[in-house]
Amino acid sequence: MRALIRDDLRHLHPYGAPQLDVPVQLNTNENPYAPSEALRQAIADAVAGVAGTLNRYPDRDAVDLRKDLADYLGHGLTARQVWAANGSNEIIQQLLQAFGGPGRIALGFEPSYSMHPLIAQVTATGWIAGSRDADYGMSTAAGQVRQHKPAVTFITSPNNPTGTSVPLALVEEVYDAAPGLVVVDEAYAEFVRAGTPSALTLLPGRPRLVVSRTMSKAFAAAGTRLGYLAADPAVIDALLTVRLPYHLSTVTQAVARAAIAHRAEPLATVAALRRDRDDLVAWLRGRGLTAADSDANFILFGVFDDRDAVWQGVLDRGVLIRNTGPEGWLRVSVGTPAENDAFKQALTEVCTL
Ligand code: PMP
Repeated sequence: MRALIRDDLRHLHPYGAPQLDVPVQLNTNENPYAPSEALRQAIADAVAGVAGTLNRYPDRDAVDLRKDLADYLGHGLTARQVWAANGSNEIIQQLLQAFGGPGRIALGFEPSYSMHPLIAQVTATGWIAGSRDADYGMSTAAGQVRQHKPAVTFITSPNNPTGTSVPLALVEEVYDAAPGLVVVDEAYAEFVRAGTPSALTLLPGRPRLVVSRTMSKAFAAAGTRLGYLAADPAVIDALLTVRLPYHLSTVTQAVARAAIAHRAEPLATVAALRRDRDDLVAWLRGRGLTAADSDANFILFGVFDDRDAVWQGVLDRGVLIRNTGPEGWLRVSVGTPAENDAFKQALTEVCTL
């Protein structure tokens, strides 16, 4: 069968975050707080409300959901400037289908979100692995964009796996240097500290700028699979040509709308997660480890001679984290206080901190 697969995909392996049944799961940057009884009821009611219509296709353009998302984002955005799909991974895929493809290249600044190059590859878009400064800053980003002239440039802010935010002045600089689309992946936007503005503020007058978001992180709705973007309506018109008809199920649209209507609950956990993140960074540093400053709900820390051994040791103690990022580093998502304590205990035992 392998011989039948497209030549350029034959060597690829499936996306790799292990899904293991362990007590403490701190490896995929979800919100650790499950929906409350009230929110569960609201979601169940929303599904019951549309169950009788499931013989029909969903609203193909998800107009009501896009209006709700626009209201949530603010900045004067309207439904015409917002698009939604099954997770921001599908948003990225649709963007590359429409604006990348054979003969075109996309560029990202690594280390960054590993799905950007992977989705580039499956959409037959060339990939340029741009570089970062030693401290993971992006001072040379605009120069790299001028050199490679990518059809699509990715900026992840806060970045995964480093957790660092990108200053807006740098996004502007990259935009001015770029001939094509500039996609700011803001999956973790809600977790930034005060005074770190979103690239949404840059949208007016920049028709090639796209800001992508997700309900998988702060919204505590990873299982719902709902990602979205804000951009010029012309970008969305282009996506309409590549999206599959009826890509967002009626159930997904209803559940997402219920979650947005009840957003006060999940978003109330964000302040606690930020505080616990900063405490965890301080704890790691207090143990002599290096931890990157994080504006997200995860922390990149290290540096270990044998990170796989540390990852396995922590896993043997029931805590799943992620061995990703530059050599020697590991990434841990911020969990509930009890989960964070379990992680600290496990790491202390493994590393005799
Ligand atoms: N962008 C970034 C930077 C991410 O870290 C993730 C998930 N890990 C995504 C996009 C995709 O998230 P989803 O498809 O769940 O919206």
